Amino acid sequence: MKEETFKKFVYTILFILIVIFFTKDCDFFFGFYKDIRKVKNPNDILVLVNKNNKLDDDYMPKDLEAIDINYAMEEKYIRKEVKIAFETLAKKAKEEGYNIVAVSAFRSYSYQDELYHTYVKTSGKAYADRCSARPGHSEHQTGLAIDVMGENQDYNKFAETKEFQWMQKHAHEYGFILRYPEKFEDVTGFKYEPWHYRYVGVEAATKIKEENTCLELYLQ
Ligand SMILES: [Zn+2]
Repeated sequence: MKEETFKKFVYTILFILIVIFFTKDCDFFFGFYKDIRKVKNPNDILVLVNKNNKLDDDYMPKDLEAIDINYAMEEKYIRKEVKIAFETLAKKAKEEGYNIVAVSAFRSYSYQDELYHTYVKTSGKAYADRCSARPGHSEHQTGLAIDVMGENQDYNKFAETKEFQWMQKHAHEYGFILRYPEKFEDVTGFKYEPWHYRYVGVEAATKIKEENTCLELYLQ
């Protein structure tokens, strides 16, 4: 009986160690950041940048423009076509009583590098990979992605706002998609981010919404 209890104890410890081994680096487990391809169409509106598709260190869009300060927390840059679409969206939302404000837009490779390594230093690599992107793997470097906040002025809690509900209904009409939906975490490689929107143009955004899919699957 004692031997039986001891065996159970050993098996439990082994099981815990195995679980820790596989979950400490989920990206390895799911195949992210392995088999990395270089992005060949960085200027394409439908460009795919994720944990397996990497932008060059020096890539920077050539048509970056500042977002109207009425719709941005501070000076934020985005590609011209996205700026027009986002300002149109934010203006329409405002007319209907919703305040949608950009908190992050274009981010350079070096800025992303700093951001990612701050996460690694403070919370470890597994956490950094879950909450941030390694440099070259962030959509923010394309100038096509925007993080937004609403009435509670906390992008982390954007899902709790009426602005989020508005975005759920209308973002696609302006060419934006919720880039990292909860149900596609295993496909996108990123945890659910209710605040992160990606410009893909009205046609693709409408199809992605109608088909209830994500960019990775849409482009396949
Ligand atoms: Zn983002």
